[in-house]
Amino acid sequence: MLLLAALLGLCLGSFLNVVIVRLPVMLMHGWRAEAREALELPEEHNEPFNLVTPRSMCPSCEAPIAWHDNIPVIGWLKRRGRCANCQARISPQYPLVELAGGVLAVAVVALYGVGFQAGFMLAACLALLAMAVIDLRTQLLPDVLTLPLLWAGLLYQLLFQPLMLESAVIGAMAGYLALWSVYWLFRLITGKEGMGYGDFKLLAALGAWLGWQYLPLLLILSAGVGAVLGILIQLAVPRLRGAPMPFGPYLALAGWIALLAGEPLMAVYGRFFLI
Ligand SMILES: [Zn+2]
Repeated sequence: MLLLAALLGLCLGSFLNVVIVRLPVMLMHGWRAEAREALELPEEHNEPFNLVTPRSMCPSCEAPIAWHDNIPVIGWLKRRGRCANCQARISPQYPLVELAGGVLAVAVVALYGVGFQAGFMLAACLALLAMAVIDLRTQLLPDVLTLPLLWAGLLYQLLFQPLMLESAVIGAMAGYLALWSVYWLFRLITGKEGMGYGDFKLLAALGAWLGWQYLPLLLILSAGVGAVLGILIQLAVPRLRGAPMPFGPYLALAGWIALLAGEPLMAVYGRFFLI
């Protein structure tokens, strides 16, 4: 069963790569079209571009990718991370996201078994994966991902843990308002924007999935991991010093930890902070 889960996760990871690469471009096209309409400029005519068209192709030479080179992880390894046609490097993001999809699917099935609840949980973990990588690549946390995750979290509680519904609603509100207040405080004091609205919506979504009780833990985890990783990355890659660091990936990481290892973690956390 775990092997099946791993295979499913790898394939879903492969689909996530398509979402990660194409969704920001699709959003950008949409915003351009809206802006041109508002400015009363003539419509642009673009080739259709969505999650299914065009077929997968090499980002440098645009040669279509054969199905046997598109097999999760193995396709990339077989070609040693290069295009079969032009030998351009293919980003290790592709196999890494596929691998992460496989690991998340195995973890969810090991913890939740097979069923609707596990399906919901896996969808949440994979949505977090897509958001983390999109935020890393583009510094965007699209509403079309954060908001459905929030509503799906409330639905999850309604279906599987109705007693948690109240703390989930409070979690969503408090998660949004907590970061919203930090943002405005920071902005009023320094005149700078420290994070984006996407971060508020993502924490609201995690609050819906986990309940308000988890919010301090989520913030401690994401800020802690973010600070440590941020310092390490800036030491290792000097050109990134002073560059803005997206907060979304750390929130996603904290979200996975809390979704998959929440109860033992809360026990430890409670022992440290609540006695
Ligand atoms: Zn190529």
